[in-house]
Amino acid sequence: MLKNDQLEQWDRDTFFHPSTHLAQFARGEAPQRVVTGGQGCHIEDRDGNRLLDAFAGLYCVNVGYGRPEIAEAIADQARELAYYHAYVGHGTEASITLARMILDRAPDHMSKVYFGLGGSDANETNVKLVWYYNNVLGRPEKKKIISRWRGYHGSGLVTGSLTGLELFHKKFDLPLAQVIHTDAPYYFRRDDLAQTEEQFVAGCVASLEELIEAEGADTIAAFIGEPVLGTGGIVPPPAGYWEAIQKVLAKHDILLIADEVVTGFGRLGSMFGSDHYGMKPDIITIAKGLTSAYAPLSGSIVSDKVWQVLEQGTDELGPIGHGWTYSAHPIGAAAGVANLRLIDNLNLVQNAGETGAYLNAAMADALGDHAHVGDIRGEGMLCAVEFVKERDGRVFFDAADKVGPQVAAALLEQGVIARAMPQGDILGFAPPFCLTKAEADEVVGKTAKAVKAVLG
Ligand code: PLP
Repeated sequence: MLKNDQLEQWDRDTFFHPSTHLAQFARGEAPQRVVTGGQGCHIEDRDGNRLLDAFAGLYCVNVGYGRPEIAEAIADQARELAYYHAYVGHGTEASITLARMILDRAPDHMSKVYFGLGGSDANETNVKLVWYYNNVLGRPEKKKIISRWRGYHGSGLVTGSLTGLELFHKKFDLPLAQVIHTDAPYYFRRDDLAQTEEQFVAGCVASLEELIEAEGADTIAAFIGEPVLGTGGIVPPPAGYWEAIQKVLAKHDILLIADEVVTGFGRLGSMFGSDHYGMKPDIITIAKGLTSAYAPLSGSIVSDKVWQVLEQGTDELGPIGHGWTYSAHPIGAAAGVANLRLIDNLNLVQNAGETGAYLNAAMADALGDHAHVGDIRGEGMLCAVEFVKERDGRVFFDAADKVGPQVAAALLEQGVIARAMPQGDILGFAPPFCLTKAEADEVVGKTAKAVKAVLG
């Protein structure tokens, strides 16, 4: 227990929390929680609650809480050398080793790793690299980035623009003009309910083609997408989607950025989502699972094709004008090395695949027939339950009814954390990879009770 009994008041008075209803929080109307510890799949708070975290923080604590191997690696690095920059050829054993380890795990055609701090800044880097790439190639008009509605790529200026969720645009003057959006590969939410999955994919492809035609292929630099839509609703792609999209991109010489901030390092039961779905990206974004969030670290993995042009650029122009003070921070890098070793040693990618499949199957068994459950979907250690007012004709609830948040709150009352996804009544699960079958059963059993409590 923390000793400071003013902490809750200080929190209300001083702390600007991200993704929070600021006015309600300041007025004391929105909940607060002071988190004090964590072990395995559980966190604890100052009030003595022990909660099963079925969202792994923000789908990032992939190896689970309280791993001494990573804590010790961080402490050792801090004692030995807490910081040195990575500019003009500097590095540390940790940062160089981590780059090697990432490339050993990434698809074969990837060539180099640039390190940042979080997913948003990594995607910011990616957009700059793509612009630089086309300028070096003498194509200054080829700059627009296509993203998908419901994609999530961060909340900076460019990355908030890439994000295709209303909340991240409204009143922020986003999206910026260089970003354009295309259809989400969200079969459950298709307009025409009579469409087969195959027809739906053909529709996604046709509308991408139309967009490229309307804008002009020579103005479009890249397409960015998460292998599985994450924050937009946890939506695995329909069969054949990535193959068909990549054909269009190749035809128009448009680069593919695979945003693997959630899927990278095992969440789908494969090391990368790109391998899982046969994607051949030019750039891969990594963050969260790179360190299991034990320290902030992200990366942009660039392919050989992109790297060759970047080299050409610096031969023409001098050192690349891009870098953060904390790029490749040694403490983050040490956490990354220890984290990737732990994932290997404990076979956690395999467990994410196997226990994730168990969780998804159990959820479908428990809730598949419920009158207000329209869809249960997932891949690996990702699962979502989407609620509907009526299954017949797929009638959604009014957003104002806040059905998703109500179910999440009812589940939390039983000690399980899931996430009410921000757009739609969707309850999301993304547990740590060390989840056991018994814990999966607990998540499912309590979810069924929470759904019953809210929806009958
Ligand atoms: N990309 C994806 C796919 C994400 O899910 C997120 C965060 O959830 C980001 C990028 C942004 O990462 P960060 O919040 O570390 O800036």
